[in-house]
Amino acid sequence: IINDILDFSKIESGNMAMEETAFSPRTLIESVAELLGHRCFEKGIDIATYAHPRLAGQILADEGRVRQVLLNLAGNAVKFTDTGGVRITATPDADSTFIRFEVADTGIGISDDALPKIFQEFTQADSTFARRYGGTGLGLAICRRFARGFGGDVTFEYSDGTKGTCFRVTLPLIQAT
Ligand code: ADP
Repeated sequence: IINDILDFSKIESGNMAMEETAFSPRTLIESVAELLGHRCFEKGIDIATYAHPRLAGQILADEGRVRQVLLNLAGNAVKFTDTGGVRITATPDADSTFIRFEVADTGIGISDDALPKIFQEFTQADSTFARRYGGTGLGLAICRRFARGFGGDVTFEYSDGTKGTCFRVTLPLIQAT
Protein backbone atom coordinates (compact mmCIF):
# COMPACT_ATOMS: atom_id res chain seq x y z
CA ILE A 1 0.00 0.00 0.00
CA ILE A 2 2.84 2.38 0.85
CA ASN A 3 4.47 1.66 -2.50
CA ASP A 4 1.15 2.36 -4.23
CA ILE A 5 0.88 5.73 -2.56
CA LEU A 6 4.53 6.62 -3.24
CA ASP A 7 4.12 5.73 -6.91
CA PHE A 8 1.00 7.76 -7.04
CA SER A 9 2.54 10.88 -5.57
CA LYS A 10 5.49 10.51 -7.95
CA ILE A 11 3.16 10.49 -10.94
CA GLU A 12 1.20 13.42 -9.51
CA SER A 13 4.34 15.50 -9.11
CA GLY A 14 5.59 14.55 -12.60
CA ASN A 15 8.67 12.86 -11.13
CA MET A 16 8.28 9.57 -12.89
CA ALA A 17 11.04 8.96 -15.40
CA MET A 18 10.23 6.31 -17.99
CA GLU A 19 12.91 3.74 -18.66
CA GLU A 20 13.06 2.08 -22.06
CA THR A 21 14.54 -1.39 -22.18
CA ALA A 22 14.36 -4.29 -24.63
CA PHE A 23 12.42 -7.26 -23.33
CA SER A 24 10.28 -10.14 -24.50
CA PRO A 25 6.54 -9.57 -23.95
CA ARG A 26 6.05 -13.34 -23.92
CA THR A 27 8.57 -13.82 -21.11
CA LEU A 28 7.01 -10.90 -19.24
CA ILE A 29 3.47 -12.31 -19.20
CA GLU A 30 4.84 -15.75 -18.32
CA SER A 31 6.69 -14.28 -15.35
CA VAL A 32 3.56 -12.45 -14.16
CA ALA A 33 1.60 -15.71 -14.36
CA GLU A 34 4.36 -17.50 -12.51
CA LEU A 35 4.32 -14.93 -9.69
CA LEU A 36 0.60 -15.56 -9.21
CA GLY A 37 0.82 -19.31 -9.77
CA HIS A 38 0.95 -20.29 -6.14
CA ARG A 39 -2.08 -18.18 -5.22
CA CYS A 40 -4.00 -19.72 -8.14
CA PHE A 41 -3.00 -23.21 -7.06
CA GLU A 42 -4.23 -22.48 -3.52
CA LYS A 43 -7.55 -21.16 -4.86
CA GLY A 44 -7.91 -24.05 -7.29
CA ILE A 45 -8.12 -21.77 -10.34
CA ASP A 46 -6.16 -21.82 -13.61
CA ILE A 47 -3.76 -19.23 -14.97
CA ALA A 48 -2.65 -19.25 -18.60
CA THR A 49 -0.77 -17.02 -21.02
CA TYR A 50 -0.69 -16.60 -24.79
CA ALA A 51 1.63 -14.42 -26.85
CA HIS A 52 1.05 -13.94 -30.59
CA PRO A 53 3.87 -15.32 -32.81
CA ARG A 54 4.52 -11.80 -34.16
CA LEU A 55 5.58 -10.90 -30.59
CA ALA A 56 8.21 -13.63 -30.37
CA GLY A 57 11.06 -11.07 -30.34
CA GLN A 58 11.83 -8.19 -28.02
CA ILE A 59 10.04 -4.87 -27.74
CA LEU A 60 11.13 -1.51 -26.34
CA ALA A 61 9.16 -0.21 -23.33
CA ASP A 62 9.43 0.40 -19.60
CA GLU A 63 9.50 -3.25 -18.58
CA GLY A 64 9.29 -2.64 -14.83
CA ARG A 65 6.22 -0.46 -15.09
CA VAL A 66 4.50 -2.65 -17.68
CA ARG A 67 5.08 -5.56 -15.30
CA GLN A 68 3.61 -3.55 -12.43
CA VAL A 69 0.50 -2.73 -14.48
CA LEU A 70 -0.01 -6.34 -15.57
CA LEU A 71 0.66 -7.65 -12.06
CA ASN A 72 -1.90 -5.26 -10.67
CA LEU A 73 -4.56 -6.29 -13.20
CA ALA A 74 -3.77 -9.99 -12.93
CA GLY A 75 -3.59 -9.76 -9.12
CA ASN A 76 -7.11 -8.27 -9.12
CA ALA A 77 -8.28 -10.94 -11.55
CA VAL A 78 -7.03 -13.72 -9.24
CA LYS A 79 -8.45 -11.94 -6.18
CA PHE A 80 -11.96 -11.72 -7.64
CA THR A 81 -12.06 -15.21 -9.20
CA ASP A 82 -13.05 -18.35 -7.30
CA THR A 83 -13.84 -20.75 -10.17
CA GLY A 84 -12.35 -21.01 -13.65
CA GLY A 85 -9.25 -18.88 -14.04
CA VAL A 86 -7.27 -16.00 -15.44
CA ARG A 87 -5.82 -15.53 -18.92
CA ILE A 88 -3.09 -13.04 -19.84
CA THR A 89 -2.54 -12.47 -23.56
CA ALA A 90 -0.27 -10.29 -25.69
CA THR A 91 -1.28 -9.55 -29.29
CA PRO A 92 -0.27 -6.92 -31.85
CA ASP A 93 -2.90 -4.95 -33.76
CA ALA A 94 -3.24 -5.63 -37.51
CA ASP A 95 -0.46 -3.26 -38.64
CA SER A 96 1.76 -3.83 -35.58
CA THR A 97 1.61 -0.25 -34.30
CA PHE A 98 0.20 -1.24 -30.92
CA ILE A 99 0.61 -4.13 -28.53
CA ARG A 100 -2.44 -5.20 -26.57
CA PHE A 101 -2.11 -7.01 -23.28
CA GLU A 102 -5.39 -8.44 -22.02
CA VAL A 103 -6.13 -9.81 -18.58
CA ALA A 104 -9.38 -11.75 -18.54
CA ASP A 105 -10.92 -13.64 -15.65
CA THR A 106 -14.02 -15.72 -14.94
CA GLY A 107 -14.69 -14.02 -11.61
CA ILE A 108 -17.45 -12.02 -9.98
CA GLY A 109 -17.51 -9.22 -12.58
CA ILE A 110 -18.05 -5.51 -11.97
CA SER A 111 -21.56 -4.06 -11.69
CA ASP A 112 -22.76 -1.37 -14.12
CA ASP A 113 -23.14 1.00 -11.15
CA ALA A 114 -19.54 0.58 -10.05
CA LEU A 115 -18.02 0.71 -13.53
CA PRO A 116 -17.79 4.49 -14.03
CA LYS A 117 -15.83 4.77 -10.78
CA ILE A 118 -13.27 1.97 -10.83
CA PHE A 119 -10.49 4.07 -12.41
CA GLN A 120 -10.86 6.77 -9.76
CA GLU A 121 -8.34 6.92 -6.92
CA PHE A 122 -9.37 5.24 -3.69
CA THR A 123 -12.55 3.81 -5.20
CA GLN A 124 -13.66 0.24 -4.85
CA ALA A 125 -16.69 -1.28 -6.58
CA ASP A 126 -18.34 -2.04 -3.27
CA SER A 127 -17.25 -0.67 0.09
CA THR A 128 -17.79 -4.07 1.68
CA PHE A 129 -15.13 -5.45 -0.70
CA ALA A 130 -12.39 -3.62 1.14
CA ARG A 131 -13.00 -5.75 4.18
CA ARG A 132 -13.48 -8.94 2.23
CA TYR A 133 -10.73 -8.63 -0.37
CA GLY A 134 -8.41 -5.89 0.90
CA GLY A 135 -6.84 -3.31 -1.40
CA THR A 136 -6.61 0.46 -1.47
CA GLY A 137 -8.58 1.28 -4.61
CA LEU A 138 -5.37 2.82 -6.03
CA GLY A 139 -4.32 0.05 -8.40
CA LEU A 140 -6.37 0.81 -11.48
CA ALA A 141 -5.80 4.56 -11.22
CA ILE A 142 -2.03 3.98 -11.22
CA CYS A 143 -2.25 1.44 -14.06
CA ARG A 144 -4.07 3.95 -16.22
CA ARG A 145 -1.63 6.79 -15.43
CA PHE A 146 1.38 4.61 -16.25
CA ALA A 147 -0.13 3.43 -19.53
CA ARG A 148 -1.11 6.97 -20.55
CA GLY A 149 2.40 8.10 -19.64
CA PHE A 150 3.66 5.59 -22.26
CA GLY A 151 1.28 6.90 -24.93
CA GLY A 152 -1.12 4.03 -24.32
CA ASP A 153 -4.13 3.33 -22.11
CA VAL A 154 -5.82 0.85 -19.83
CA THR A 155 -9.39 0.16 -20.77
CA PHE A 156 -12.13 -1.96 -19.40
CA GLU A 157 -13.33 -4.40 -22.08
CA TYR A 158 -16.28 -6.24 -20.59
CA SER A 159 -17.73 -7.62 -17.45
CA ASP A 160 -20.73 -9.73 -16.63
CA GLY A 161 -21.72 -12.21 -13.98
CA THR A 162 -21.11 -15.27 -16.15
CA LYS A 163 -18.10 -14.30 -18.30
CA GLY A 164 -16.10 -12.38 -15.69
CA THR A 165 -14.00 -9.32 -16.41
CA CYS A 166 -11.46 -8.25 -19.01
CA PHE A 167 -9.07 -5.31 -18.96
CA ARG A 168 -6.85 -4.25 -21.87
CA VAL A 169 -3.52 -2.43 -21.78
CA THR A 170 -2.58 -0.81 -25.10
CA LEU A 171 0.96 0.45 -25.71
CA PRO A 172 2.80 1.70 -28.81
CA LEU A 173 4.62 -1.30 -30.30
CA ILE A 174 8.32 -0.75 -30.93
CA GLN A 175 10.09 -3.94 -32.01
CA ALA A 176 13.64 -4.16 -30.70
CA THR A 177 14.77 -7.21 -32.66
P1 ADP B 1 -7.94 -2.35 -5.21
O1 ADP B 1 -6.68 -1.92 -4.55
O2 ADP B 1 -9.16 -2.20 -4.35
O3 ADP B 1 -7.86 -3.66 -5.91
P2 ADP B 1 -8.19 -1.25 -7.89
O4 ADP B 1 -8.12 0.17 -8.34
O5 ADP B 1 -7.16 -2.19 -8.40
O6 ADP B 1 -8.15 -1.19 -6.32
O7 ADP B 1 -9.61 -1.81 -8.21
C1 ADP B 1 -10.76 -1.02 -7.89
C2 ADP B 1 -11.98 -1.89 -7.74
O8 ADP B 1 -12.40 -2.40 -9.01
C3 ADP B 1 -11.73 -3.12 -6.88
O9 ADP B 1 -11.82 -2.85 -5.50
C4 ADP B 1 -12.85 -4.03 -7.35
O10 ADP B 1 -14.06 -3.65 -6.74
C5 ADP B 1 -12.95 -3.69 -8.84
N1 ADP B 1 -12.19 -4.66 -9.67
C6 ADP B 1 -10.97 -4.48 -10.22
N2 ADP B 1 -10.60 -5.54 -10.95
C7 ADP B 1 -11.61 -6.44 -10.85
C8 ADP B 1 -11.83 -7.77 -11.38
N3 ADP B 1 -10.93 -8.38 -12.16
N4 ADP B 1 -13.00 -8.37 -11.06
C9 ADP B 1 -13.92 -7.76 -10.28
N5 ADP B 1 -13.78 -6.53 -9.75
C10 ADP B 1 -12.63 -5.88 -10.02
